[in-house]
Parts: sequence; C-alpha cells; structure tokens
Amino acid sequence: MTERKNPRLVLAVETSCDETSAAVLNQGEVLSNVILSQDEIHSPYGGVVPELASRQHLQSIDRVVGESLSQAQVSLAEIDLYVVTQGPGLIGSLLVGLTFAKGLAYYFRKPVIGVDHLEAHIEAAFLENRAIEFPVLALLVSGGHTSLYYLEKPLSYQLLGKTRDDAAGECLDKVAKFLQLGYPGGPVIEKVAETGDSSRFHFSLPRMKTPGYDFSFSGLKTAALKVIKENKLNPDHPLLRDFLSSFEEVVVRALLENTNKALEEFRPRSLVLCGGVARNKRLRSKFAELAANYQLPAYVPSPRLCTDNAAMVGALGWKRYQASPERATDLDLDAYPRKDFKADF
Ligand code: AMP
Ligand code: MG
Repeated sequence: MTERKNPRLVLAVETSCDETSAAVLNQGEVLSNVILSQDEIHSPYGGVVPELASRQHLQSIDRVVGESLSQAQVSLAEIDLYVVTQGPGLIGSLLVGLTFAKGLAYYFRKPVIGVDHLEAHIEAAFLENRAIEFPVLALLVSGGHTSLYYLEKPLSYQLLGKTRDDAAGECLDKVAKFLQLGYPGGPVIEKVAETGDSSRFHFSLPRMKTPGYDFSFSGLKTAALKVIKENKLNPDHPLLRDFLSSFEEVVVRALLENTNKALEEFRPRSLVLCGGVARNKRLRSKFAELAANYQLPAYVPSPRLCTDNAAMVGALGWKRYQASPERATDLDLDAYPRKDFKADF
C-alpha cells in the first residue's frame, strides 16, 4: 500500500433511494466512486418500490464499500472520517447506509458526519470545478426533487423554490410508465424524443398563482396523460416521438423559466445544474444557452456525477468537517425522510 503524507481519508456512503454507492476521497480528491444501480429490480414496477430498495441496499452495501476501498487501495483501518447521506430520501434505504457508516465509525473510533442529499447534488458541480464563483444559483432536478437554491457563499444554501407536487423526474417517469416504456422513464423519453418534432403537440407552461420560485409538474403530467389517451398513443405509434419530444421540451421550459426569473432577481455569478435529470441533453444544452444569454458560466456535472453517488456526499462531508469538526462526533445521527424533518445544522 502506498504511503500518504497527512492522510485525510474519507469513506462516504449514499443509499437514499435506489443506488447503493460508496466512495473514498483523500483531502477531497476522489479516489473511487462505486455506484450500483437497482434499476433492473424496480423496472417491472415502473418506479422505485421502497421495501425492495432497502432490502437490496442491505444485500449490496458490504460489497459496494469493499469495492470502493479496493479501487482506492485503502483499508478500513486507514479511514479518518465517515460521511453518510442523512436525508432526504426513502427512510428504509437511508437507514441502511446510516447504520452501516455509524457501525464502522463506532468500531474504528472515528468521526462520522451526516450530509444532506440535495446539498450533495450541488456539491457534485464543485467536484469537477473547484473555482466556481459565488454567489451561485443552482437548479436541482431529480426523481424526487425539483428545487432552486441560492448560495451566497460556500456551504450556505437558501432554498428559493421547490416543487409543490411531482418532481420533474417523477413526471417523466410517470408518463413513461403510462406508456409502458420502462423505468427510469427520463432516459427512455430522451432517446425516443431525439428524432421527434417538439412543436407537434402544444402544452401550456405551468403557472403558479403565487409569487416565488416554486415549481409544479402534476398539471403537465395530467395534460400529457390526456393527450396519450385522446391520440391512443402507444410504444409503436408513429406520433410517439413527436409527443415525447414536445413533452420533454415543455418540462425543460418549465424548469428554465423559473431559473430565468430567479436569475433576474438574484444576479448570481455562476449557474449550476444538477441531479439525475441533469443528464438530459436537451436540458443541458438549453441551460447552457440560458447561461450564455446572461454571459454567465454554467457548471453541469458529468452524467455519472448527476446520478446519486457517494463521491458528492464525501466531498460535501469533507468540507463540512473542515468548517466545523465538532459536528462529526454524534453517533445519535438520525435519518430524515423529508427536508422539513431535518434538524437544524
Ligand atoms: P435521481 O433522483 O437524482 O437519482 O435521478 C433519477 C431521475 O433522473 C429519474 O426520474 C430519471 O428518469 C431521471 N433521468 C435520468 N437520466 C435522465 C435523462 N437522460 N433524461 C431525463 N431524465 C433522466
Ligand atoms: Mg438524487
């Protein structure tokens, strides 16, 4: 094993939804980032089945952590700090990672620190770009969350708006499920929509009756299901790709309209796009266009770092630990399923 000067080795664990992931970082540099997806297990159901997810995490966590250590050529005894996703997410899934990390921390008498999954998604952008200028406006789009954050400075997260009903990814997944296109729906929709005409079907953009930056996708989902029924769309229908292209387009426009509004008011120096849906090419390119219109740099993590992964969790935990090491001593650390359950940091 190679000798490291001043080792600051972090083992990070992420099990908030349906990816089991573990990463090893040295001074914030990623040495390994192993992600095991459960897509195949949930695919027949058209969405994540919480009970199956937590059982699968239980079966995989040992192997995934072992693989991350072996790829990083690090042994457990060398780990200085454990970082784990505390919430939000599926409570059964979260508890698997949390208990595993706490168990190791207890056995090796090392500190453990819990981090917020959504803040970790934003951190993914910083993993690849250390010099992002603040303030930052971050659009987080995933299967369970759609939120806009304003970061005045590092580690300060102001939630400007979130979805009041479905998340954007959930909306894509449900439309795909209705069409029996499989799970996760976002990537399938993207593939079919690629050759479609986005102006063929018209969808109105969701309008919020109250000021602010909240999103809403349930109306769009209902409108899409109505069009599917009216046109008897199915996986072999010749209009399917035009429909999916039009639908993907309006989802992207809804996301960017709010971002644009916040940009006008908050005038950030940088833009970040993150979360699983940020893998979408249309969203990535329209987001880059928006940033270019305002002559702002846009930071979008590479697709692998948009997916739930432990590297982003470890990177955030490492920063939090450096900022306030006293936070990392509490073995009472508990999981929280929703953001509003979160204890004050
Ligand atoms: P996360 O919740 O961050 O793990 O992200 C999962 C969500 O991202 C699911 O709703 C997926 O359908 C969605 N997703 C993944 N890849 C893509 C893509 N290429 N285009 C659109 N949505 C995607
Ligand atoms: Mg996620």
